[in-house]
Amino acid sequence: MWENLEIGLEKADPAQLKVKPAQENLGFGAHFTDHMFLMEWNRQKGWHNAKVCPYQPFVLDPAAMVFHYGQAIFEGLKAYKNENGQIHLFRPQDNLERMNDSALRLCMPRLPVEKVFKGLKALVYLDRDWIPTLPGATLYIRPTMIAVEAALGVRPAGHYYFFIIMSPVGAYYREGFSPTRIFVTDTFVRAVKGGVGHVKTAGNYAASIMAAEEAHKAGYTQVLWLDACDRKSIEEVGTSNIFFMIADELITPPLSGSILPGITRDSVIQLARRRGVKVTERPITIDEVIAASADGSLQEAFGTGTAAVISPVGEFCYQNHKYLVNNGATGPLAQWLFDELQAIQNGLQPDPFKWITRVG
Ligand SMILES: *Cc1c(COP(=O)(O)O)cnc(C)c1O
Repeated sequence: MWENLEIGLEKADPAQLKVKPAQENLGFGAHFTDHMFLMEWNRQKGWHNAKVCPYQPFVLDPAAMVFHYGQAIFEGLKAYKNENGQIHLFRPQDNLERMNDSALRLCMPRLPVEKVFKGLKALVYLDRDWIPTLPGATLYIRPTMIAVEAALGVRPAGHYYFFIIMSPVGAYYREGFSPTRIFVTDTFVRAVKGGVGHVKTAGNYAASIMAAEEAHKAGYTQVLWLDACDRKSIEEVGTSNIFFMIADELITPPLSGSILPGITRDSVIQLARRRGVKVTERPITIDEVIAASADGSLQEAFGTGTAAVISPVGEFCYQNHKYLVNNGATGPLAQWLFDELQAIQNGLQPDPFKWITRVG
């Protein structure tokens, strides 16, 4: 069935093309390109009606199951255009494979990865003029799957939409790095082992908003999440994975079931090892980080994720005590990883791990 899936093409009427926003002021996720990818799944036909088509709204029944029981999964990746006009995607198949892990956990249909990859490349190429070229600015790509069957009753839906939309986004750090201040919460938890914290499903983000709002009110950028049982082991920061450099050892929590297996996380582990840095995936408690802060062995802390790539942590607050990391400044490893990853993503540096796909 999947082998025969054809991808149709419906181009937007040239007269209806949107006015592109100024590159200097894109922000994040505020503008969307002229086209999208869309396909449907049902039990009879499997995946069908695959097409690249004009960006458009959906008409959904109020009983569409996604509104009630939350079968919604997504991904986030980027297309990069360098100064030579070359367009690249960074590890795109890994995003689609991870989406299939999410689909499995949420009892949603698996994607035909090769077909979707073809559709994704066609979409990026068609809307290539939307990819910003200012340093650090990119085209953010959001594959999403939702349950659209109109029915009440908790069970896997019989009808789904899969779509890909794209948004030009500005550089995360326009005036160089500004290290984040993070709030360690021991009131809220993000995920539990056996739950859905290891997959990208919408409910995880809905559940995290309250903690983020409280952190913002207290003057912090992000929440540092601890494990749900002891509230001691560090899990993630905001919607990013977390790394600590302590006594020349780069430490990140292991993928133990409640942590999202970030593609940036994996890339950072490989790049750091290649540079000769000792990298360890092991549990690390907030007490260990505070002890390292006290004895001077805490050198750096940073989050990793597609949106910001690397986000240095300059300060954290735990139980009303504040701790500075590297005097509130970006550390050398965070800076090197950021520069290295960006250069690879833009195709301006050798790509030893074969992470890059050229489009067009
Ligand atoms: C998406 C995400 C990440 C980062 O994953 P990348 O593949 O590096 O973008 C980390 N944690 C959470 C909770 C996420 O949703």
